[in-house]
Amino acid sequence: ALDVEGKHVTVAGLGVSGISAARALAGLGASVTVVDGGSGELHKERAAALEADGISVRLGDAETLPDATSLVVTSPGWKPSSPLFAAAAEAGVDVVGDVEIAWLLRGPNAAPWLAITGTNGKTTTTQMLASILRAAGLRTAAVGNIGTPIVDVVLEGDDAYDVLAVELSSYQLHWAPSLRAHSAAVLNLAPDHLDWHGSMEAYAADKGRIYEGNQIACVYNVADKATEDLVVEADVDEGCRAIGFTLGTPGPSELGVVEGLLVDRAFVENRQKNAQELAEVADVNPPAPHNIANALAAAALARAYGVQPAAVREGLRAFRPDAHRISHVEDVAGVSYVDDSKATNTHAAEASLAAYESIVWIAGGLAKGATFDELVQKSAKRLRGAVLIGADRALIAEALRRHAPNVPVVDLERTDTGAMSAAVREAARLAQPGDTVLMAPACASMDMFVNYNKRGEAFAEAVRALAAETA
Ligand code: ADP
Repeated sequence: ALDVEGKHVTVAGLGVSGISAARALAGLGASVTVVDGGSGELHKERAAALEADGISVRLGDAETLPDATSLVVTSPGWKPSSPLFAAAAEAGVDVVGDVEIAWLLRGPNAAPWLAITGTNGKTTTTQMLASILRAAGLRTAAVGNIGTPIVDVVLEGDDAYDVLAVELSSYQLHWAPSLRAHSAAVLNLAPDHLDWHGSMEAYAADKGRIYEGNQIACVYNVADKATEDLVVEADVDEGCRAIGFTLGTPGPSELGVVEGLLVDRAFVENRQKNAQELAEVADVNPPAPHNIANALAAAALARAYGVQPAAVREGLRAFRPDAHRISHVEDVAGVSYVDDSKATNTHAAEASLAAYESIVWIAGGLAKGATFDELVQKSAKRLRGAVLIGADRALIAEALRRHAPNVPVVDLERTDTGAMSAAVREAARLAQPGDTVLMAPACASMDMFVNYNKRGEAFAEAVRALAAETA
């Protein structure tokens, strides 16, 4: 339970989750101050709206702790090393995130949480899970790092949902010490956001928090031992099971794939008895290897909650991925153009490159400290060519020179927004019928675009222009 009535609570960050937390806390009778380092027009507008409702806002100073603060509620983006938290520690004040607040606000009969984290595939898997739960006739929502702020969902009351599909980022887990999921999955673990966490160990430890206190199942990736290690290290409820997922034949306590079917171990052992498969590979959209892994993880969580196989299949069939995640844009002159703008790190790009045979790869952007050797080594044999754009394209060019010297590379040497349209044209020149032009940049977008959505839209627009000319 959360008792903030009459207390001074400081909310760090005037973003979507900060505003939702501030309103919720004020509604519980807290005296709330939102602090944010920014002071631009958008900040002022948001501040005015909150102040009209009796919430104080302090712009332009994100570092000092307001007087009498007894709890700090932070937004996910704030680094643990932020001076405000040092000030809180010095004053002996707890710092928590919106997920912790949501967790503490749940009533005695609240919907259990099926939680998902991982470096890549979180949103997709969470939405697949929600789709499966809906197919089973359960009232659910995909929340956490996506959709409606989780505090708002919890405040709808214990009766509003049967079960929640909760996407959690490593940031959110870091700030949610009391969270105890019904069941949880870590999809994969690759270096990302190390600037925020400080080290790979700290990042893995925050991800591993998702298993702490699990009641029914800890779902891990058999192909990614680091995820299994986190299960072993976690302190879980008695009787909580570890369940692996694999793209191969499942071993004991695993889900896997056999002859084009998604199955559990019972299927393998009882084939003669007509044990039921969970789904077909073709039910997964798109049926790329990494996405089949996502589907297995979602199925494992749904099964842990007691969902029947038929609903797993129906839910997977009904699922449609969000935009800019391996989205097919159009075929032009026998070449397929695919937008995976959401591939903002090398691990994600590796997954989408593995899904196609002959690829002209559009890549580049902000590398965030990543190296590209492993990615290029693993993907070299699939590359027809590469077109590079963005601030850190030289890093990719060097990796291509080292590990794929025969692959033609066009370095556009551009970082302007119009470069995407030029990149599509160059890619069209390199591609042959049957190829896929894949925009999976392995980098963040902010050097050229506002966000990955805009980057994906620019790509799709360029492809449509090309199609119009070709027609
Ligand atoms: P997240 O929410 O973790 O960022 P998304 O579901 O939005 O993940 O997918 C982001 C990108 O990561 C996709 O566009 C795809 O390139 C890649 N991806 C998705 N699932 C996986 C996976 N299981 N393993 C590796 N990469 C993946």
